[in-house]
Amino acid sequence: MPDYFLITGGYVYDPANGIDGQVKDLWIAGDKIVEPPSDPTVRPTRTLNAAGLVIMPGGIDMHCHIAGPKVNAARKMRPEEKRNSEKIMRTAVTHSGTMGSVPSTFATGYKYIGLGYTTAFDAAVPPLAARHTHEEFEDTPCIDKGFYVLMGNNHYVMNAARDGDDERLRNFTAWLLGAAKAYACKLVNPGGVEVWKQQPSGNVRAIDENVEHFNVTPRQVIQAVARAVDSLKLPHSVHIHANNLGMPGNWTTTLETMRALEGHRGHMTHIQFHSYGGGDADENTFNSKVAPLADYVNANPNLTVDVGQVMFGKTTSMTGDGPLGYYLANVYKSKWFSADTEMEAGCGIAPIEYKNKSLVHSLQWAIGLEWYLLVQDPWRVVMSTDHPNGGSFLAYPHIIRMLMDRTYREDILKEVHPAVRGRSQLADLTREYSLNEIAIITRAGPARILGLKHKGHLGPGADADITIYTPHENKETMFELPRYVIKAGIILVEEGDIREEHMGKLLHVAPDYDRAAEAGIGQWFEDCYSIRFRNYPVGDDYSHVAEEISCGK
Ligand SMILES: [Zn+2]
Repeated sequence: MPDYFLITGGYVYDPANGIDGQVKDLWIAGDKIVEPPSDPTVRPTRTLNAAGLVIMPGGIDMHCHIAGPKVNAARKMRPEEKRNSEKIMRTAVTHSGTMGSVPSTFATGYKYIGLGYTTAFDAAVPPLAARHTHEEFEDTPCIDKGFYVLMGNNHYVMNAARDGDDERLRNFTAWLLGAAKAYACKLVNPGGVEVWKQQPSGNVRAIDENVEHFNVTPRQVIQAVARAVDSLKLPHSVHIHANNLGMPGNWTTTLETMRALEGHRGHMTHIQFHSYGGGDADENTFNSKVAPLADYVNANPNLTVDVGQVMFGKTTSMTGDGPLGYYLANVYKSKWFSADTEMEAGCGIAPIEYKNKSLVHSLQWAIGLEWYLLVQDPWRVVMSTDHPNGGSFLAYPHIIRMLMDRTYREDILKEVHPAVRGRSQLADLTREYSLNEIAIITRAGPARILGLKHKGHLGPGADADITIYTPHENKETMFELPRYVIKAGIILVEEGDIREEHMGKLLHVAPDYDRAAEAGIGQWFEDCYSIRFRNYPVGDDYSHVAEEISCGK
């Protein structure tokens, strides 16, 4: 008979199983939630009395930047932040760490688990740098994690998309995900980063513009990768950072990108940054276009979004969108880091600051909130700040309060640039989220969108990743300091104190493909890469604990 751990008496919010605040016992055996024992005489080995407390599955951050070369470059780039921010002191069970907008690896793990988040995905890794990411993940304790590989400017991908060779791309995609031990396919400014690498200040401005030398358009790349992802039945859809991020008038590009999917699954990430009306670089015409875009998302169930909420304050922008990094460094006249990854990707980093006296920044803030409030189905909109681009993941409790408390939201609206009222609908939106809906957009929804069947819920078979909160009228207070955080059946955190260090799992996919395709990919490496084909795949010894998530049948 297993050792049972019983959590008893709490108000359970488990939207995936239709449980909305009912008092319910949870039985845990090992690292899984299980059916209550059928024999009523069976007693648990341990019991946690959660009477009066709120119980949810552990939080899931499906889009953040926490590991890999650009994150590490950003840490090194900003020593001034590290000096003056909170210090993470070593304890008997935890390592020391540094904060600032780009926390060190250990601090990242501790801060996520302290917030009740038990899983996080880094959204942009050049596959050539997969090893670096895995190494940092091994130093990111407490949470399960995975990453998405950059594919939108990969030379092999662009060639196959131009040739319309779906089979070649399908095999390459499956091979690449397996070789990098990645979780999903990411497009970042498809085609645009390649033009940036070729030409001074280069970029694409529309999805039908030609990418020189490759004679392919962003639309072709988006469609080809979306087809490959669906034909491989990957657990997560193609994850799209559209062209023209941050540019006034970019909403038409975003709409065209969603249409280009032609019914294939697609996740539009940090969509706040892609929802702007207005003319070329003219601040006076900048306005919100969430309404028509949200209408389109509402009408098309193949689409999901995460928000990329902007928070006022200083942070660091880091992106696979090379030209965007250059643009931001010019706007802020700040430090700038840029790097190209040979056949695969680009990268840009710049310190930035969102000010509530700025019209543009105030509108960005309002546009993010409009997204939460205008997508009707909470299962298709996910909480994110695109950490650290829009702000830190530590802002999630504050965002929850703004969504659940309309008066509080209106108070903040009074402090931002006054023109926001005329250029966004935020002031007219009266919707308030319920606890059940918060549980959807922070855990149940992202789990479903990621195809993680054993996460984001509390039914039998689920990972025993559980967050227990003390109810409070102020929802920011409630969510910023969970009473208990349980990871894989272990109570890791009690009121902010980490009681035990735990290494989470790596979540990855390894789709099947035609092994005969390796000859062609190997030749491509011989001809073009700085690394041998046989040395490229990440070995099984790179992760201590890995879990392969299976593809659909
Ligand atoms: Zn991002």
